[in-house]
This record gives sequence, C-alpha cells and structure tokens, in this order.
Amino acid sequence: MVRPQRQSVPLASIDWDDEGFAIAGHVPDDPLFQSLEAVGILHPPLLWQKQPDRFAIVDGFKRLSWLRSRSSLVDALVFPKDTDEARLLAMRLEIKMLSRGLNLAEKAQILARYAALTSKEDLRRRICPALGIASQTESLSLWQSIAAWPARHLSALARDLIAEKTALSLAPLPEKDRESFLELLSALRCSASLQMEILERCLDIARRDGITLHALVASPEVQAILEDENRNRREKTTAVRELVHRWRFPRLHERMERLERAMAEVNMPSALSLVPPPHWEGDVWELRVRFRTPSDLTVSLTEAKHLCTTAPFQGVFEEFDNASTAHPSGPTPVCPKGRCDAMIPRLKNPIRNVVVERAVSRSPVVAALREGLPGVSFAFVDTVPERSRKIPGLLEVVHFKGRFWRSCPGTKIYECCGYQIVHIGTQCSLECTYCILQSYFENPNLRIFGNIEDLEAEVRQVPASAPHRLFRAGTGEFTDSLLLDPWTGLSRHLVPLFARIPNAVLELKTKTDHVAQLAKLDHGGHSIVSWSLNADDVIRREEPRSAPLDARLNAARRCAEWGYFLGFHFDPMIDYPGWREGYRRTLHALFDAVDPSRVVWISLGAFRFMPELKGIIQRRHPTSRIVTGEFIRGLDGKMRYFRDIRLALYTEMVKEIRAWDSTLCVYLCMEGPWIWKRVFGFEPSEKGGLPAMLDKAVRDRMGIGGSL
Ligand code: SF4
Repeated sequence: MVRPQRQSVPLASIDWDDEGFAIAGHVPDDPLFQSLEAVGILHPPLLWQKQPDRFAIVDGFKRLSWLRSRSSLVDALVFPKDTDEARLLAMRLEIKMLSRGLNLAEKAQILARYAALTSKEDLRRRICPALGIASQTESLSLWQSIAAWPARHLSALARDLIAEKTALSLAPLPEKDRESFLELLSALRCSASLQMEILERCLDIARRDGITLHALVASPEVQAILEDENRNRREKTTAVRELVHRWRFPRLHERMERLERAMAEVNMPSALSLVPPPHWEGDVWELRVRFRTPSDLTVSLTEAKHLCTTAPFQGVFEEFDNASTAHPSGPTPVCPKGRCDAMIPRLKNPIRNVVVERAVSRSPVVAALREGLPGVSFAFVDTVPERSRKIPGLLEVVHFKGRFWRSCPGTKIYECCGYQIVHIGTQCSLECTYCILQSYFENPNLRIFGNIEDLEAEVRQVPASAPHRLFRAGTGEFTDSLLLDPWTGLSRHLVPLFARIPNAVLELKTKTDHVAQLAKLDHGGHSIVSWSLNADDVIRREEPRSAPLDARLNAARRCAEWGYFLGFHFDPMIDYPGWREGYRRTLHALFDAVDPSRVVWISLGAFRFMPELKGIIQRRHPTSRIVTGEFIRGLDGKMRYFRDIRLALYTEMVKEIRAWDSTLCVYLCMEGPWIWKRVFGFEPSEKGGLPAMLDKAVRDRMGIGGSL
C-alpha cells in the first residue's frame, strides 16, 4: 500500500460531492464540533488525489466540513493518484470498523461496503466479530439490506430507537410497513425485548388476518393510544402491549381477564396470594404466604382455611374450569390467492436420483428400487455425505449403524402411549407445513436404510426378549411409512415378519394412498394401516402434497377389504374458524368409508411445536397461517393452543366419534391428565395408564395379546 504524504491542500480542490468513501453516522455531531472549536483538527484528514487538482475525501468528512467555512487550506495526508481505490476503501473501512462507539447504522454500512470487497467467509469470520454483530448467513444479507434503508430509517437505528434484533426482523419487510413500525417505536421508546414482543405479535396478527403491518399500526385503536396526551411513554407502551396481546390471543386474553376479575372478588388477606396454573396448563394451584413469625403463619393459615369456604373463592375455581370455546368471528383462513388446490403437484414418484452406499448395494431394497425405477440414475459411493442442503428428488440408501428398534421418547409431564419406533429412514417429501422433521435432522434429504436384514433381526429379537409384553410398533415416526413403499417394497418384508410375532403389531402410518402393494401380503391380522387425517380445509392448506382426504379414505377402505386393521390420527388438529364443521365432515366421510369395527384406535392431538419451528415454517411456507394460533408455552417447552381451545377440539371430536362407535378406543396424544379428565371424565392412570388402554384396544379389536 502506498504511503500518504502530508501536504497542504486547497479546500476548493476537494470534490465535496464524492461520497465514495463516506459512511454516514446519522446522528448529530455536537461533541465533535465542540472539540474542533476548542482545539482544532488534531488528526489530519485522509485525501486521495484523483486528478492533479481534484481530491476525494477518504476519512475526515466532518472535520473538513467544519473547516470549510473557516479556512481555505487543510493540512492533510494525501494518497497519490495511482493508489488502488479498492485497497483505499478497505483501509478506510478498517479504520472506521476499529473506531469505538459505532452505531448500528454505521455497522450496517461498513458491512455492506465490505461485502463488495471481501469473501463471505471473511465477513463471517473477521468483520462481523469486529463489528460485534450476528454473523449467520441470513443476517449478512439482512445487514446489507439495512445499509440501503432510507436516511430517516438509518437515523432511527443510529439513535438506538431500534434494537439490533428488531432491525433484523424489520429488514425484510416492505418500506411502508417498516416506516409505520419505526414511527410506533419512536413514540414508545421501549426496551429491545418489548420491541420484539410487540413486533412478533403484530406480524402474527397481520399474517393471520391478511392485513399489512402498516394497516395494523395505522388502526384507530393504536393511533388513539399514541395520540393520548394523558399517557406518558411507559403507559403508552403498556397500552399497546395489552391491545396487541388482546388482538393476538383474543380468547386467552378474555379468559385471563375473566379469571382476574374472579380473583379480584376474593377478599384475599394481604399476606396471601393465589397463583393459578400457568396458562391453564395443569391443575396445580399455589397459595403463597408471607409471614414473619410462627403466629403470623398460624393466622394466615386460619384465614386461608376460611377463605376456601367462601363463594368468591369457589367462584375462582368455577371460572378456571369453565372453558369457553367460541371462536372469534373472522374469515376462514383459506389459502391466500386461491393457490391451495393446484398449488403443488401431488407427487407419485418423488425420486429422481438414488445414491447408494456400497455396503448395502446388494440389499433387496436396492434391487426393488432398481426394478421399480427404471429411468432413475443410481450412483454407488462408499459413504453418503451429510448434506445440509435439500436436493429435490434425491434418495439416499445408507447402511444404518444405530438401533432400528427404539422406544418413543415421550415426556414425563404429558401422557405417553408407550409406542415403539421401528426406524426405517428419515425425512419425507410431502412437505406438510407443520412437519417437525423440518427441524429434526441435519440431513434434509430422503434417506432409507438398506441393511434390512439387521432391521429384521432386531424386529425378531426385541419382542422375543419380553414374550409376556405386547409391543405396538410403527415405522412412521421419522418419515411417512408408505411414501416410498411402492418402490422400496419394505412392507413386503415387515408385514409378513410381524404376522409371525405373537406379541407385536405393526402400524404403518401415512398420508398417502400408496397401498396397492399391501393387497396380497400375509399380514396375519398383525398390521394396522393408519392415516393421519384432518379437516379438508387443513389438508388443502397445510398438507398440499399429500393424498386428498377422499383418496386416503378410499385407500383405508381397500385395506380393510384386504383384512387389515385401521387406525386414524387427527394430529395435528388445527384451530381455525369453521373447525367444528370441518372436522365433523371428515369424521362423517371416515365412517362412511370404513366400518368402525375395523378401527383399532383414533388419536387426537392438537397442534404443538418447538418454538424454533415457527421461524422455519414462516420461512418455508410463507402463506401458511398455522403458527398464528393462540399458543402458550406448555410445561414441556412446546407451544400449544391454550387449554380451552384444546378442550373444545377434543370434546367435540370425542362426542362425534362416540356417536358412531361408543367402544372405539379414542386417545389424546401428549396431553396431561387434567385434560383427559375434562374430555373423558377419567385420567389414564384410572385405567392402568395409556399404554394399557392401547394394549386393550389391540386385544379387543385385533384379538392379539389376550394370552400374554
Ligand atoms: S407426511 Fe408426516 S413426515 Fe411427511 S411431511 Fe407430512 S408431517 Fe412430515
């Protein structure tokens, strides 16, 4: 790098319009100007002599602008004409980056300028840490788009009106939405966490209701709060938070208000406080007592004992139990732009390329694939690499070294069904919007295990090791059981194998209609073919690649004709305006198609998800509104509809199913005993536990396990 020379430069020869090296601060510079007035310029500005008599400013824009009205010459460090411009810019960025007290607007500009000069790797590894900003790939592009914001938005960022995380969330939004939200934040001046809370809720409302963020912020209710001269900023923030909470969670909010009103009716002594179960999850209340001496405590406990007998206190518990379920009025969230029906072609053969590990090249699964997929290319490799990128149409056949047979993990808090997983592969190409597999595996591509002789050995060995226990096992935990079955022929191995195991049944769980290959198999009455079902609206919106409802039920009817037992899983059940009618129609279609006596069980599970899945769903399925429901964080950390919504979904379904067959085993998937009690009038523990209930269903309907 050429060294600059110190020289005296006429200010008239500086090109003041050249901002090629400028990084705007977007904040007032009063302290700098006060210092300049006091001691003058201490560090000479950097100039670049672009022409014999034209100079560009490299560093020192503000110092020079201050000097402009006070002098005709500046003592500067000048880079000669032949200096490489890119290197000069890099040096300028480096000086700026290492200076202290950069605001977010400056950081965004530095990163954006660097992005044109250096590699992504250097940005991530060196520049982001030096600037102290997030370095994930998505953040890099967001920072670059922030750098291109209009000056008034950058100014809000520079003045710390917007926190870093909020800025990154606002970056992908249209300018008008961002503008209105920035105005809101300017009026509220709230903390970073409140900014994000309000923004996330507003975005959820906008997505759910099909309106823009701008329209939401411009609503009379929000504007009335902002214009209220009797409220200070803190009070306005509280009011906006509450309003947004009410809009985002209308039923939960109303329930909380009702419960609070009921609790306010209780003349609670000041030393006592009553704490309900969080968000109606569970049925354990807390009574907190503050006391200084044993006699204080005695008095409080006596008062508490009396309180229990009072009508207002009883009223609190009645209010708590009194689930209200009316759905707020609003449009049925059909797929925006009418894209549902033909949005994505339903796949028959999802495979275009197969990569096989050599260790399983002689596998019968590979032979079946080669025979069934004549036009598809096969490649053989020593080890299929772990890929983080999804390659459409790719199927990997690997030698699996882990355990094929494992127990479903379940949780201690919610009732577990004691299911056994037979692990046949990972991932699925049906791409349901809510699919947990989107966040489960490092490898996003379809993968099956070729060493089925090892799988078969475990299937023989595990049930044999506990001959007095009944095993309910299934292959649909980490993939769809029948998605690839017409081509892999796996059921040809597993179904007859389970037919010969006296203490086990196999469940094949699917959303496809891929059943033709099951027709002639020797199942011995030990296989249950089961379908995940939903309201037709939900299937079209959230499961667009899977088989339509009528195709699934038609396939179920054929399986029943071939002597298979059937199972149905309404999981995930979705709360949307019109859900009652939607699920009722599906149940009618189900029992029109199949004889309930062939159905071993029906499970019900309301939509729940780990919080991390929300962002993935929003990114991958931008038209889905499934994550905008009224969720609370459950005791297991998963987001769930709050209690009243789940109760409404379940009780309605149970009532309908019971009208068709009062003996059919209906169970709740991953729900607490407090929900069971309200839906069925009993807890699983009263029937020996959920596993025992399901074992009984197998014994009663399939006639298996009676002698164990
Ligand atoms: S069918 Fe099941 S495994 Fe496949 S995408 Fe849908 S939810 Fe996921």
